Amino acid sequence: MTEPLNAERERPRLAASGPVRVRVPAKINLHLGVGPIRRDGYHELTTVYHAVSLYDEVSARRGDQLTLTMEGEGAGELPLDESNLVIRAATVLAKTAGVAAQARLHLRKQIPIAGGLAGGSADAAAALVACDALWGLGRSRDDLAEIAAEVGSDVPFLVLGGTALGTGRGETISPVLARPTAWHWVLAFATGGLSTPEVYRELDRQRDALLAPAPLGAPDDLMAALRQRDPGVLAAALGNDMQAAALALRPELGDVLDAGTDAGALAGMISGSGPTCLFLARDAAHASLLASTLAATPVCRSAVAVTGPVPGARVL
Ligand code: ATP
Repeated sequence: MTEPLNAERERPRLAASGPVRVRVPAKINLHLGVGPIRRDGYHELTTVYHAVSLYDEVSARRGDQLTLTMEGEGAGELPLDESNLVIRAATVLAKTAGVAAQARLHLRKQIPIAGGLAGGSADAAAALVACDALWGLGRSRDDLAEIAAEVGSDVPFLVLGGTALGTGRGETISPVLARPTAWHWVLAFATGGLSTPEVYRELDRQRDALLAPAPLGAPDDLMAALRQRDPGVLAAALGNDMQAAALALRPELGDVLDAGTDAGALAGMISGSGPTCLFLARDAAHASLLASTLAATPVCRSAVAVTGPVPGARVL
């Protein structure tokens, strides 16, 4: 028997009777190229997304309304109403599918809020996958990624995961052909977040002041580095156009980057719009040593060793 062309599309449409639990990773950007501002107000991006093993979890149960509760990072600070990306994603999916938006959703959060790790987008991706299963919609991953683009620019990537090139405002995703390698990273968390729009404004201000153009180069060196297994080569190919702006807004992050490189990281950079700092390690043992060294310094709140790439939002 031949395989169906799209196995996920062939899934039986059975609504889940019990709770559905979905785990979703954080993202880092191995390359974040920021181009000019477009007419719609978004910046044109060329980015290489990479999903790493720091996870949030969304569970969905039957209910007669759409409600959200949460625990973990940001509990008590993050609104649980329609401004929360979990509720927004569930509402968009229900509307697209023509079903009633009814579910009791619960979010367990480990990804820091406004940390440059796209935690909110990750939660939205998890809500799409969880509600799709709870409501028995049987949408394919590609269909969910298309719906995800309506919720936010990073959401389609977090439905898919892995390592992928993002273009447009980041929502157009194509998987990167890479050698199956587990890369080892350390994430150093800061106290408090950084607002992504503010970091973009600072970047525009810096570019205006320097009359600097905003060219969008293709990340060819990075693509080549991902086709081999040498972390030293990967270290030299990482880059983030938002780093200088994030450092201008939070100069103390420079001390975190210095602490990581002093401790032997192969490379250190700001993750996305910050303030999380990201370090590349040689292997698992090196990453765990780096994480404990960084966690013991007063310059960061905590640090964890993670690996990537990992899959996107998945039912457990
Ligand atoms: P990005 O790099 O994609 O801008 P980030 O990691 O800097 O993301 P997020 O944690 O994704 O920041 O959240 C950005 C903002 O989105 C938060 O400041 C918060 O106001 C809002 N938000 C809405 N829902 C959520 C959610 N479930 N988790 C986190 N933030 C949320």
